[in-house]
Amino acid sequence: MQSLTLVDVAPRDGIQNEKLMLSSAQKLELIRRLAQAGLRWIEVASFASPKWVPQMADAEEVFRATARIPDIRPIVLVLNDRGYDRAVAAGARYIRLVVAATDTMNRKNANASPEETMNSYKPIFERARGDGVELTGAIATSFGCPFEGPVDPAQVLSLAARFVEAGAAEVDFADTVGMAVPPQIERILLRARQEFPGTRIGIHLHNTRNVGLANAYAAVRGGADVLDASTGGAGGCPFAPRATGNIPMDDLVFMLEGMGIATGVDLDALVATSRWFEELLQRPLPAMLPKAGPCWKTPPPLA
Ligand code: ZN
Repeated sequence: MQSLTLVDVAPRDGIQNEKLMLSSAQKLELIRRLAQAGLRWIEVASFASPKWVPQMADAEEVFRATARIPDIRPIVLVLNDRGYDRAVAAGARYIRLVVAATDTMNRKNANASPEETMNSYKPIFERARGDGVELTGAIATSFGCPFEGPVDPAQVLSLAARFVEAGAAEVDFADTVGMAVPPQIERILLRARQEFPGTRIGIHLHNTRNVGLANAYAAVRGGADVLDASTGGAGGCPFAPRATGNIPMDDLVFMLEGMGIATGVDLDALVATSRWFEELLQRPLPAMLPKAGPCWKTPPPLA
């Protein structure tokens, strides 16, 4: 059976663009509920500047408190060495570094060209070895940029190669504003598998144009090791206009379990968490499964 690791990004990507500010206790309760539903890899915070991402201002407090939740891998996002310092000081051991594939998007994210950002990460990779930190690399706008349009896969793969050469344990291709279609996902996975054997390959999807779950299917068929989603389908990027939520973890788990891919997630518990999360955010979330309800306990046999 194919092994696929799910990462729930609701506590980071899911809420960073919400107008309603969640308290640290509410964020922690979300993480605790996700863990209880069976999600093990959880993106819990971003150590970004509170000036630009105010929703993540309490990253230290939230991260430290996750130590009390057993059996999870709390992952954090970092965009520069200041963020790395904060994350490591708080005790983070799994850190995602981010670069955007296009110049305009990376300047919005990090006020630097992608090349400058990659150069600034070199010393971080050296320090991470001594700090016992696992670094992974995420490439935003891998399939399309809200400012520059379609993105050349060669450009994306060259950034991925830089991450792999530096020692990243995983490279994630992110469809930040939902511009990808399934063949793009399959092809980048095929190329990445060939070029980076031994590195985990992840796909991070947004459902901006309603092709998210089809892209997730393509990611599974293409042999992705890691797939990001957000419970309820909350989310959006503060630096990208009209960005909408991640693919809903609820709907994704339903599809995967139905395909015979064990996720370890309890669908009923996940749906309950999603409904609770929706009440917390005081707005309807896009996930469909909590509305329709799971229609089986055990996945139907495949003919
Ligand atoms: Zn995202």
